[in-house]
Amino acid sequence: MNLDVRTIMLMLSGINLLGAGMMALISFHADNVRGARQWALGHCCMCIGIFTSTQMSPEWPLLIIAAVPLITGCGFGFIFNGIQAFKGKRCNYWITAWLGLQMMTQSLWFGIVQDDIRTVLIANSLLFSGIFAAGAINLMVKTTQPLKTAYWLAAGSFAFIALMSLLRALNLFLTPAHGVGLFAQGNVNPIFLVLGGLSQLSISLSLVLLITFRLVSDLREQASYDSLTGAMNRRRFEDESRRLLARAIRTGEPLSIIMIDVDFFKRINDRHGHPAGDEVLRRLSKLLQAVIRSEDCLARYGGEEFCILLVGTREQGAAQLAERVRLLYADLRIEWKNEILQSTLSAGVADSSTVGTDLSTLVGAADQALYRAKNAGRNCIALHSMNNQPLPS
Ligand code: GH3
Ligand code: MG
Ligand code: MG
Repeated sequence: MNLDVRTIMLMLSGINLLGAGMMALISFHADNVRGARQWALGHCCMCIGIFTSTQMSPEWPLLIIAAVPLITGCGFGFIFNGIQAFKGKRCNYWITAWLGLQMMTQSLWFGIVQDDIRTVLIANSLLFSGIFAAGAINLMVKTTQPLKTAYWLAAGSFAFIALMSLLRALNLFLTPAHGVGLFAQGNVNPIFLVLGGLSQLSISLSLVLLITFRLVSDLREQASYDSLTGAMNRRRFEDESRRLLARAIRTGEPLSIIMIDVDFFKRINDRHGHPAGDEVLRRLSKLLQAVIRSEDCLARYGGEEFCILLVGTREQGAAQLAERVRLLYADLRIEWKNEILQSTLSAGVADSSTVGTDLSTLVGAADQALYRAKNAGRNCIALHSMNNQPLPS
């Protein structure tokens, strides 16, 4: 194969330039995504480093000759720190500085002091291999789809470059010194660079994929959960409930619904302010999360109304849980600006064996029962099947 090494390296620097531009655009427009800024900087440094090394001549001032490996090494460091930032971890720019200085020192020491280009290339290939292997390990993250796929693609690309760099170092070691040079044609050197370039492209694309999938996951989360209480919002609750109801129809297992409403909640807002009311809602949600099972669904159904769907539970079982919640909540004392907030709640219960498996009918039945509980004086629960008579509290 007659491939020109300088052209391949120019292509590599072009790939990094495109990557830098793409990441800069992302960090500018989606400033909530962490890591894109570091990846833009990393690609930019690598583009400058690779481009200048294709043009380098021994007549250049030593300062510029030293700056090229320094910038390239820092580029790898920024990419590594971008991964840390993306994962929500603290960046360590000492790693960036160390990589730059390490690459500069070994390039100057072996290249200029020892005048041994082969050792420069072997040392730098080993350094690349180590950095990319560390990047691959850092990208092995246990997470949910679709982010999982992007993490594995990125980790695979990093691992591939790490392996290529190691093989390149081995090949350089086995090649006679006179056949070695950055732009040496040979058979193997251009192939390593082509494969390296393709993996670089794959890294840039998988980093973009990571960002895209992170945004998708964040949007899904925002569209599904209430930001104040962390409970599901009504839309997600309805989706989940329909799925669970369909399963209940297949398996014949019962399902029940509890509708909960804080008593005289408006008074809390009026007396202590809206933020105090918000705190009460957060604490009630936490209490409810703690008592339900993982397969049950909890949603903030309206302002101060919560709804729980209990899987495999009949009305009596749901009523017991509702009563437990009522007692726990009545005992809950929330400290708020040197005052104690205390209130009560009412709940209505209905189940699929008496009302049927249509979601809106079930919710309507539990709501009717709640209405009766309110009319009976509040701080109590009512069952739909018991002619909506409230249970004595
Ligand atoms: P009842 O016992 O009949 O349920 O009386 P209530 O005062 O609880 O019911 P009402 O429907 O009159 O008032 C509900 C209040 O909930 C009115 C509204 O301002 C408040 N609210 C709704 N959403 C929020 C919220 O997110 N935060 C706060 N702090 N208040 C909210
Ligand atoms: Mg209320
Ligand atoms: Mg209400």
